[in-house]
Amino acid sequence: MQRLNLDFEKRSYDIVIDTSFDMLSDELSRVCKGKLLIVSDTNVAPIYLSKLEECICKAGFLKPGCVIFEAGEKSKNIDTLQKIYNSAIEHKLDRKSAIIALGGGVVGDMAGLAAATYMRGIDFVQIPTTLLAQTDSSVGGKVGIDFSGVKNIIGAFKQPSLVYINTSTLKTLPKREFSAGMAEVIKYGVIRDDEFLSYLEQNADAISSLDDKAIEKVIYKCCAIKADVVMHDETEMGMRAILNFGHTIGHGVESAKDFELLHGECVALGMIGALDISLARGYVTKEYYERVKNIIFSYALETTFCGADKKTVIEYMQNDKKKISDRLRFVLIKGKGETVILDDITADETERAIECIIR
Ligand code: ADP
Ligand code: ZN
Repeated sequence: MQRLNLDFEKRSYDIVIDTSFDMLSDELSRVCKGKLLIVSDTNVAPIYLSKLEECICKAGFLKPGCVIFEAGEKSKNIDTLQKIYNSAIEHKLDRKSAIIALGGGVVGDMAGLAAATYMRGIDFVQIPTTLLAQTDSSVGGKVGIDFSGVKNIIGAFKQPSLVYINTSTLKTLPKREFSAGMAEVIKYGVIRDDEFLSYLEQNADAISSLDDKAIEKVIYKCCAIKADVVMHDETEMGMRAILNFGHTIGHGVESAKDFELLHGECVALGMIGALDISLARGYVTKEYYERVKNIIFSYALETTFCGADKKTVIEYMQNDKKKISDRLRFVLIKGKGETVILDDITADETERAIECIIR
């Protein structure tokens, strides 16, 4: 078992990483005091809900309420949020109660927003079950829903009281979802830690086959990197922006392909595009560029896409809500594990970068 303590100004909480749910009862009794409400989806609940209920019962809590919604991003909307509020009221949750998210990023985002807003904020526990949620979305406190066709447009910053990661839940995760999660994992190595990138390069088989030690190391490292970045910049005024590496083009591709590709798959493409700009500017060597591309490939991720044109991708990039001015903001790599954030990328450079990932 590994434990990471995150220290934010107003509160501190632990991220516990283990290979089972064995420690969950103890952890829950340490951080929760009142009633509990579980939020999960139709894929995760049939596999893990009864185990969670058992842990809650063992910890001496009352039988928790439960909201289960249809799996998938399409459910990340105000209707589902309303169902969570209704259930919270029905189960008489009060200011001492907590909402527990059991599932991937979609569950965590919605349960987190409900916890941030119900009675002006109650406790929130994350039990992430996708690689993406275990390494990225459950750390950092961003929660939200999609609204009026725009992703994550309604949201809040809500730090949980506990994040409990059971790495063995990845055994039931579809392979494609695992690979998509690996894109953000690779991202951490590229933007912050070249030694970690080498570890990913040399241990692709162990990691992909979910070797306990390798997976625990990967998840711990990602959480530690993300926590370090986020603790310096909780509300994304500066440094946190480096986490958007691969996301400028990535979001463009994601929208242009009408969300047919997974977020991580698009981030992988976006990272290659951003690295192409870095290469053209002489910030990284051809060898480094090829190395990262090979690592991406070794985790069963595509390095090119088809079925959307360059112009559409650029149009969507320009609509991205993270844009701070009329210019596109790019996170580029300038040397191993080093980033620069620039908004002077020319239209030509952007076009070239997209051309190198379209087939
Ligand atoms: P993400 O975490 O990638 O943002 P989701 O919450 O949508 O995204 O999860 C991706 C998909 O994987 C969903 O269909 C979800 O129901 C499913 N899922 C999540 N965790 C598991 C798991 N441990 N085993 C099987 N399926 C899972
Ligand atoms: Zn992302």
